Amino acid sequence: MTSPATAKPTTASSTANNAPIPFIDLAAQRARIGARIDEKVLDVLASCRFVNGPEVGAFEEQLAAFAGAKHAVSCSSGTDALALLLMAWGVKAGDAVFCPAFTFCATAEVVPYVGATPVFVDVKADTFNMDPESLEQAIAVAVEQGLTPRVVIPVDLFGQPADYDAILPIAEKHGLKVLCDTAQGFGGTWNNKRTGSIGDATATSFFPAKPLGCYGDGGAILTDDAELVTVLKSLREHGQGVDKYQNVRIGMTARLDTIQAAVLIEKLAIFEEEIAARDRVARRYNELLKDVATVPVVDARATSVWAQYTIRLAPGVRDGLADKLKAQGVPTAVYYRLPMHLQPAYKHYPSAGAILPVCETLAEEVISLPMHAYLDETTQDRIVAAVKQALAEG
Ligand SMILES: *Cc1c(COP(=O)(O)O)cnc(C)c1O
Repeated sequence: MTSPATAKPTTASSTANNAPIPFIDLAAQRARIGARIDEKVLDVLASCRFVNGPEVGAFEEQLAAFAGAKHAVSCSSGTDALALLLMAWGVKAGDAVFCPAFTFCATAEVVPYVGATPVFVDVKADTFNMDPESLEQAIAVAVEQGLTPRVVIPVDLFGQPADYDAILPIAEKHGLKVLCDTAQGFGGTWNNKRTGSIGDATATSFFPAKPLGCYGDGGAILTDDAELVTVLKSLREHGQGVDKYQNVRIGMTARLDTIQAAVLIEKLAIFEEEIAARDRVARRYNELLKDVATVPVVDARATSVWAQYTIRLAPGVRDGLADKLKAQGVPTAVYYRLPMHLQPAYKHYPSAGAILPVCETLAEEVISLPMHAYLDETTQDRIVAAVKQALAEG
């Protein structure tokens, strides 16, 4: 299957065109809105309001409106967003928090911070997201071990919301809080609801490589719960009470810098367009690659923001492909080579079963290709051609 765009003759220039392709092209976005961002950052520098400047509150309002949530509380990172929520809910030793095993470590890392126990759940082979049946099994395991089930953290992996139609009723049945980890999925939808407006609260990240990233570390919590917001705002400022010098609880320093809020205001303004562009890139990849690889599937109830474009290949094929692509200037990444329940720092924690078969299979088969809103068709064709050639060589 060759599209007109891939049928270009090999010319001297396209042979010379072995220049490295960026995995995520942050410079392309700067070429578009960099001047505007720099101006806003300079305004913050001139104001000297580096912490809690007016941009922070303005960004929080815009973020909540974008997500369809009543409140947004910005903070220092996605990891701190998760941690602040567990602290605010009083999650503690003896409590079980259910996390997918196929995720970035931060999802589970925050659980031992508060003394609680992460319990690992398998994922579904088609969407890579939390498997509701495995969640039920994990809850049974936790109870058997004398733990109190408290929170489930569904992850919107690679940009696609988890199966909230299945997870929310399970959480309700067992009295669990639902903390959505949408660090990769912010801007996506489930039944036409944006991530950030689902569950009890949502944590997201503005790490530069995320779909909505800033120029350093940053994060936010979204929720409709006004009381929770009061506690979160206190926790992110050393547990402050009526003012900074009254401490009513043990908190931390977890604010979003004013400069980052200024950057994010400009980026949020074009985010919707970028999401549409990412979706075009992903659909085109699907069309061009569906005959040579297992391409990603988006649930009919969901839209993805494509934090990653991840294909599956037969076991044993991936690493050779990565080497061949690298030699041609095409970067790839493997998310995730080792699931959480097999990680040295986490393998002693409980899991839904003795093995988590889907996570363990995916870990052998997945590979992610360059993905961002500014990936033009010529570059994408070069990536696709390199993938096809490498796979054909075997
Ligand atoms: C990136 C990420 C986080 C952590 O965000 P940071 O801002 O890097 O702390 C948490 N969960 C998932 C699923 C992520 O991808």
